[in-house]
Amino acid sequence: MSEIVLEVNDLHVEFPTRAGPALAVNGVSFTLTKGMRLGLVGESGSGKSTTVLALMRMIKSPGRISGGSVTLVGDDLLAMSPSAVRRARFSRIALVPQGAMNSLNPVLTVRAQINDLLDSHNETLDKIARARHIASLLKRVGLDETVADQFPHQLSGGMKQRVCIAIAITLSPQVIIADEPTSALDVIVQKQVMQSLINAQSDVGAAIILVGHDMGLMAQFAHVVGVMYAGEIVEIAPVKEIFSNPRHPYTQMLIASLPSFASRGVFRGIPGVAPSIVNRPSGCAFHVRCPRAEARCAQEVPIEDSLDVSHRVRCHFAREESNVALA
Ligand code: SF4
Repeated sequence: MSEIVLEVNDLHVEFPTRAGPALAVNGVSFTLTKGMRLGLVGESGSGKSTTVLALMRMIKSPGRISGGSVTLVGDDLLAMSPSAVRRARFSRIALVPQGAMNSLNPVLTVRAQINDLLDSHNETLDKIARARHIASLLKRVGLDETVADQFPHQLSGGMKQRVCIAIAITLSPQVIIADEPTSALDVIVQKQVMQSLINAQSDVGAAIILVGHDMGLMAQFAHVVGVMYAGEIVEIAPVKEIFSNPRHPYTQMLIASLPSFASRGVFRGIPGVAPSIVNRPSGCAFHVRCPRAEARCAQEVPIEDSLDVSHRVRCHFAREESNVALA
């Protein structure tokens, strides 16, 4: 059996508002094994980015992790002291944040930024060993070692994104989280950046969580896909299974919205908007938009149904063979 590196169980994150707590993450659970690539997909506001910020213990006050557990290779991440969390960041769990290329320090060279990270983790490598390490990090993400002495403004968007990946793997973490790593990049550069991420991940033997809204990218990249809606994972399954046998209406509609040769020129969106996380709809949060909804959907919250060990769905009718997108 593959080694478990991250176990997330019933994670809850909430933000206080005048109208009551906003439940941004509402009972998220998943397991990540060594080398696994998990894709978390969903619309804006579905709780994907908040979930990964919680895994990094980066939820800003007054927001808080209000429940659940996160175990990183046997250690309780939510019980760690602030200094232990700082040590764990990058050395055990690293984040390539959303808009990462704009998070580089504009007045420091790439080398200085990687050296800063090594210093902050008390790495004792001498100057020559550091130079070798930095050159090898850049090579792993497909960049020339001369990039080390350049400033961010001298690099293209794709190069900056790859520098961010190089920084994320500097201390060989067990888990890499990449939040929308290819947004704002063109398709060719997207592919190069994703390839760099895969190479870097396999070189350091890490598991990865890719956050995004593009099911097409998930199809190419992820081993397992978790679909998020209103702070919950509504369906999670291995990538082949989720594309060949999607059981949640939202997943079915997301897949149907992908452009294809067969549906050339026809755009199939998902009507309606994501629900409020302060005043969640009663019953199933998707019922207002769901073409499959029945009376009980507005009253009963669907419990998670395990169709098999690796395929879980939150829908009252998960066991019925139907695809709303094909109806
Ligand atoms: Fe649709 Fe009902 Fe299933 Fe929710 S529980 S996804 S409303 S069919």
